[in-house]
Amino acid sequence: MRPGNALVLFSGGQDSTTCLAWALERFAQVETIGFDYGQRHAIELEARQTVLAGLRARFPHWSPRLGEDHLVDLAVLGQISDTALTRDTAIAMTEAGLPNTFVPGRNLLFFQLAAAVGYRRGLHTLVGGMCETDFSGYPDCRDDTLKALQVAVSLGMGQRFTFETPLMWLDKAETWALADTLGGPPLVDLLITQSHTCYHGVRETLHAWGYGCGECPACVLRRSGHTQWQAQRAQATPT
Ligand code: ZN
Repeated sequence: MRPGNALVLFSGGQDSTTCLAWALERFAQVETIGFDYGQRHAIELEARQTVLAGLRARFPHWSPRLGEDHLVDLAVLGQISDTALTRDTAIAMTEAGLPNTFVPGRNLLFFQLAAAVGYRRGLHTLVGGMCETDFSGYPDCRDDTLKALQVAVSLGMGQRFTFETPLMWLDKAETWALADTLGGPPLVDLLITQSHTCYHGVRETLHAWGYGCGECPACVLRRSGHTQWQAQRAQATPT
């Protein structure tokens, strides 16, 4: 474990929960930050709290390292974007090949705000669940974007920040496997039963891979990754 500390961008979804576990395994002190930007489903904000409570309850060795949670009101994003995440419209692909859930450049803003909070809290490692491998081509999730932003933020604040993105080159099956390595069945179970990624906010039926509609882009990735991970595990286990 490193003696330092970290601030994790935490949405209550599978990826950021896995990143939070990753940080708790590595850093002596970990705080979380989330953004309320008029999500259609308050369910995401609820998931943040239940996941945090679940981590504290199930992982006594992580619990003392898990510090304050910061929730930043970003309602302004709802005013300047017209997307399926913030308005009651159907999720579709735009002409640019991106889902219309895309709030342009939002991760740039998230990291910048996280850095401002981190600056005040003395947390100079920022951890995010962005992934270039198999998500929808969001340009603000790309490695080059975040490396450039790390430099800009460090220069602009006169303080060296490190951006860590442990999922950047993993596919969804590998993300499930990472969670299993970090926290074993209790973490995998917490992800399945408490984390939330479905764009439609569906939580009626518990599937093997978690709650969700099973059809939106986030559910499709989560489900297929889980299926693939299970198949790989079955193959790796000698009979
Ligand atoms: Zn869904």
